Amino acid sequence: MSGAPVVLDGRAVAREVRAKAAAEAATLTRPPGLATILVGDDLASAVYVRNKRRECVAAGMLDLHRHLPASAGQAEVAAVVDELAADPEVTGILLQLPLPAHLDPVALIERIPPHKDVDGLTSASAGRLALGRPGLRPCTPSGVLALLDAYGHDLSGAEAVVVGRSELVGRPMAALLLERDATVTICHSRTRDLPAVCRRADLLVVAAGRPGLIRADAVRPGATVIDVGIHRHPDGLRGDVDFPSVSRVAGVISPVPGGVGPMTIAMLLANTVAAAHLT
Ligand code: NAP
Repeated sequence: MSGAPVVLDGRAVAREVRAKAAAEAATLTRPPGLATILVGDDLASAVYVRNKRRECVAAGMLDLHRHLPASAGQAEVAAVVDELAADPEVTGILLQLPLPAHLDPVALIERIPPHKDVDGLTSASAGRLALGRPGLRPCTPSGVLALLDAYGHDLSGAEAVVVGRSELVGRPMAALLLERDATVTICHSRTRDLPAVCRRADLLVVAAGRPGLIRADAVRPGATVIDVGIHRHPDGLRGDVDFPSVSRVAGVISPVPGGVGPMTIAMLLANTVAAAHLT
């Protein structure tokens, strides 16, 4: 591929999505209320939650955060989820993961009513997505779609390969791409000859949690490459895609940082507004 690829600007698109969510929130008779739940003091989780709360307030929504100690038991956290589920001021509930090891995250997530499930992680939300029915969608994969849409990417009939099959990213990403009429292949740790499967892709979405996993030999010249991975390195954030080599081959690429990352919180705000219409 000759020439530099188009580098998708997730920060700029996220700004637009946040502004749209704020404008829509302002039209509602009652402001949307986002209840984030943080259990314990994990530093990375605390930073994520702080950013979500800050953006929520900046968009004119209510910040109804709850912080529980790391020692909180399953019943105690479940009671908080139930209380928020019943509170009409709360239109969206987000249980920050990971939880301390003694807690069962699945059982707690399942207590979130589907119409307040702004992370899209309950089995009801996942089932609706799998069946192609309306519902709240997980923020990171819907952020990938919003990023592609902002650049006018046509997904219909595209050969899409998703690397990763997690409940949080890979599976819903594949379902969303299928919903948009892409032909979808899902890769995982047992996939034979990953580069050969990835080379089939017009659109390659990588969410494997392995720094630099995808190199130029896995990318068809001119393909669109979306990097969901986030890894901390001494000299900054890195993704699952080896940007220096892949950007010499790809036609379009999302950087890390500044690609998918900013879209995730923006989509949380969009989901919180959408959920406010459902409460
Ligand atoms: P995860 O739960 O660890 O899932 C990783 C997936 O990748 C699994 O399905 C695994 O396969 C697959 N995989 C691992 N090694 C592989 C390999 N060598 N070849 C092919 N597939 C491989 O991770 P996740 O929660 O989906 O997150 C993935 C990455 O995205 C992480 O870096 C995470 O930090 C990042 N992330 C970013 C955002 C954001 O806002 N930008 C949000 C969420 C996550 P198996 O199923 O076979 O084990």
